[in-house]
Amino acid sequence: MSQSDLFQAALEKLADNTATAARKITNRRNITKADKVIRLAALFNRANATATALGDVFTSRQLEELTGHPTPTKGIPATDDSARLLKSATTALEDREAALERVERLARSEPLQSAQRAATEAMSNHFGKRGGYIGWTRQLNTGACEVCQRWERDGRVWPPDHRMPQHPNCACVQRIVITTTKPKSVRRKKHI
Ligand SMILES: [Zn+2]
Repeated sequence: MSQSDLFQAALEKLADNTATAARKITNRRNITKADKVIRLAALFNRANATATALGDVFTSRQLEELTGHPTPTKGIPATDDSARLLKSATTALEDREAALERVERLARSEPLQSAQRAATEAMSNHFGKRGGYIGWTRQLNTGACEVCQRWERDGRVWPPDHRMPQHPNCACVQRIVITTTKPKSVRRKKHI
């Protein structure tokens, strides 16, 4: 397994575990809604911190694997997003019928997006040198949706500072590659 495969697997596992824990909290009968909100927000915050570290670590491992040079992690700090997450958890629990589904979606999306954000940030100032340019291709997750398949653009190599477009629940990752020609920079267009 390549480092990008391991990254994707670790990420999917984190998303699964967070979803399982979030479902448990949502299904509890002996605690108030306010209590659930606090617990869910704390869970998402922890998952995001773990995800940020994963994005950072696996970017450095991918770069090391490709270049053969030691590449320290960037040390991207985990942000405390409590206020935003409390709001999201409140909204997700609002409608009783849809609560479980919404909470689960949030539980997956939060860590997935945090990890991908961290990976992009960790890669963004590595442009390569001597003998190769750094770029990335979109590595689809198993059963990726049509939107992501389109976004893959048949394996196009993107420059390191180009952010990978995502949708909620998207488990695609950036597979870092070395190319002999400089990846074309992307003109900012409406992506989503
Ligand atoms: Zn997708």
